[in-house]
Amino acid sequence: MRRIGVLGGTFDPVHIGHLRGALEVAETLALDELRLVPNGRPPHRDAPSVAAQDRLAMVEQAVLGLPILKVDARELSRGQPSYTIDTLESMRAELAAQDQLILLLGWDAFCGLPSWHRWEELLLHCHILVLQRPDANSEPGEALRDLLAARSVSDPQSLKGPGGQITFVWQTPLAVSATQIRHLLASGKSVRFLVPDAVLAYIEAHGLYRGSN
Ligand code: ATP
Repeated sequence: MRRIGVLGGTFDPVHIGHLRGALEVAETLALDELRLVPNGRPPHRDAPSVAAQDRLAMVEQAVLGLPILKVDARELSRGQPSYTIDTLESMRAELAAQDQLILLLGWDAFCGLPSWHRWEELLLHCHILVLQRPDANSEPGEALRDLLAARSVSDPQSLKGPGGQITFVWQTPLAVSATQIRHLLASGKSVRFLVPDAVLAYIEAHGLYRGSN
């Protein structure tokens, strides 16, 4: 049985918050791999500010030499909006029936789940690992409260079967966001130590995020 984590994101650009959080989860849950999945055309937000191929290349640079973190580019080859349910279905089709897929979601994203395309089918394909943060202030609606009552398990180590359960990990996020990084770069400031050096080198070599927001 393999345990595979999935973290989607715009990664515009990828930064130490994503990477450190992903690595901690991968080690805590003893995952076989954690896949970073850059979104193509995210249905929930504005278009990313650099090309998909650049976002992908930066994530690939960031995980070099760290085999537990993998990059999965399947959403970028789709012409349509990236729906998580489609991604999970396509991953599931490549795995053995008993393999575990674990979708990582921040608490805020989790609270917004009922607005996602075919959200009620997500747990047919995966478990959901909610990344709880001390400063979160969203509240789950009734549908999610019912789902939590039926499906949550308190210990992430005790997830059973290929999917269908919800569990939680407490994590204090590093105080960094891609928005902050884009703003720093647009105003000519350094983002050293906020992104891996290889990502910084890529940004500089390709002149990304200059004069944008
Ligand atoms: P933006 O500032 O452009 O909204 P972001 O930094 O939040 O971007 P995303 O690509 O939207 O990055 O995030 C992808 C996933 O990574 C989300 O689930 C998000 O909650 C998580 N994430 C983002 N920043 C951090 C952080 N500092 N620590 C831990 N997880 C993070």
